[in-house]
Amino acid sequence: MAQPRILILGAPGAGKGTQSAKITEAFDVEHVTTGDALRANKDMDISEMDTEYDTPREYMDQGELVPDEVVNAIVDEALSQADGFVLDGYPRNLEQAEELEDMTDLDVVLYLDVGEEELVHRLTGRRMDPETGEIYHVEYNPPEDPDVEDRLEQRDDDTEETVKERLRVFRENTEPVIEYYEDEGVLERVNGEQAPDEVWEDVKATIEDVA
Ligand code: AMP
Repeated sequence: MAQPRILILGAPGAGKGTQSAKITEAFDVEHVTTGDALRANKDMDISEMDTEYDTPREYMDQGELVPDEVVNAIVDEALSQADGFVLDGYPRNLEQAEELEDMTDLDVVLYLDVGEEELVHRLTGRRMDPETGEIYHVEYNPPEDPDVEDRLEQRDDDTEETVKERLRVFRENTEPVIEYYEDEGVLERVNGEQAPDEVWEDVKATIEDVA
C-alpha cells in the first residue's frame, strides 16, 4: 500500500492530536497540523494579507479562526512535501474544504465523534508539560511526578470562556464540513468517547480497511 493520505476531523478536544500521533507512527506518514503550525508562528506578521489583525495570536486567543489565506498557504506547503500524511485541524470551513480538494486526493476521512459536555470537560482540564510536550488531564490523566505536576501549563485557549467560543465556531463553521464529506459518502465515523486505546483500535482498523 502506498502511504495513505488521511484526513482526521473532530471538534476541539475530540482526540485528533492523540490519534494523529499514533497514526503517524503506525503508518509512517507525516502529521500536518494547522494548530501546532500556527502556535509556532503566533506572532508572524500577516498585516500584508489585508486581515483584521496583524498576527494569528489575536484570532487564536479569542477562539476565532485564523483567516483562510494564512492557513491555506501553510497546508499547501506542508502537503506538497509529504508522501503520506494525516491532516489534523484543517479544513475548518467549507471554503477550506474546497481549497483542499484542489491540493490533494484523500484515501480516508475519519470523524471522531464526541458529545459537547465531554468536550468541555476534556479541554478545560487539559494541561501540557512545557518541557516534554506531553499532554495530561487534571482528572483523567494527572502526572505521577509532583515536579511535572508543578510545571504543567494550560493552553491559552483552553480556558472555559474560549473553549465555549471554539465549540461555537466548530458548530457554525466545521459541522458543515463534516456534512460535506458525509454527503460524498466518504466519512468514516469513530466513537471518540471511548478510552484512547479503544478509539485507536477503531481508527487503525478503519484505515487498514479503506486505504
Ligand atoms: P487547534 O489546535 O486545532 O485546536 O487550533 C487552535 C487554533 O488555531 C484555532 O482555535 C484557530 O484559531 C487556529 N486554527 C487552527 N487550524 C485552523 C484552520 N484550519 N483555520 C483557521 N484557524 C485555524
